[in-house]
Amino acid sequence: MATRAEVLEELGVAPEWRLRAAAAAPAAGLPAVAPGSARADERAASAQAPRDDAPAGADARIARIASLDWGAFAADVDACTACGLCRTRHKSVPGVGDRAAEWLFVGEAPGAEEDARGEPFVGQAGRLLDNMLAALGMNRQRNVYIANVLKCRPPNNRAPEPGEADACRPYLERQVALLKPKLIVALGKSAASLLLGTDATIASLRGRVHRYRGVPLIVTYHPAYLLRNLPDKAKAWEDLLLARATVAQADRPAHAEPPFVP
Ligand code: URA
Repeated sequence: MATRAEVLEELGVAPEWRLRAAAAAPAAGLPAVAPGSARADERAASAQAPRDDAPAGADARIARIASLDWGAFAADVDACTACGLCRTRHKSVPGVGDRAAEWLFVGEAPGAEEDARGEPFVGQAGRLLDNMLAALGMNRQRNVYIANVLKCRPPNNRAPEPGEADACRPYLERQVALLKPKLIVALGKSAASLLLGTDATIASLRGRVHRYRGVPLIVTYHPAYLLRNLPDKAKAWEDLLLARATVAQADRPAHAEPPFVP
């Protein structure tokens, strides 16, 4: 397992950018939900989940998804036929993590490894995301939930088409409603565009706190982009520090001093 120094070095940030002890401490008392926990049962239930090619209107589908609980969520995604990606996916990729998490990370769409395993961010970009979480003293089983704009892999990892993002949007909306996170981190342009309804660049959206349905939202670079643009890892680290400070601020009494952001 990498040491913190190794993780920070991997992120390309100077060692003196240490997180304060409180910030680095793992959150206590939060129930850990193993990746893919209960997925076997949920998959088995998928045979019973309503099919989206049934003669139900789009509104009925949206209403159904908006009423899903966690137990039924993955099975419903697995049964979804609302766009053409259901024909090429191997596994749907509903999301993974702590269902009591304060932090929700949203990526773009599953790639080949995620499509094979049914879990988001398990490829090379996912390993970088794990290192980013580790630098914050977190991991994908504790206080973090990870989801994507699309729950199924687009062929050849092409960008999501607008119709696919629209068809999948109710699932992400339901995840936000179930999770009630304190913070959302949008990883890259697809997530930022869908959640904020803007076509603005990542560069122009970084560095400030946006809102998605009242939830503070930070925009940062997608880990796959960072793998190709190493100098921008330091900027992503700044974004994560802003995210950390935003969560800390939400926890503070109204009269307290604002948090120190290095
Ligand atoms: N990239 C994403 O946006 N999501 C994944 O799950 C994997 C790679």
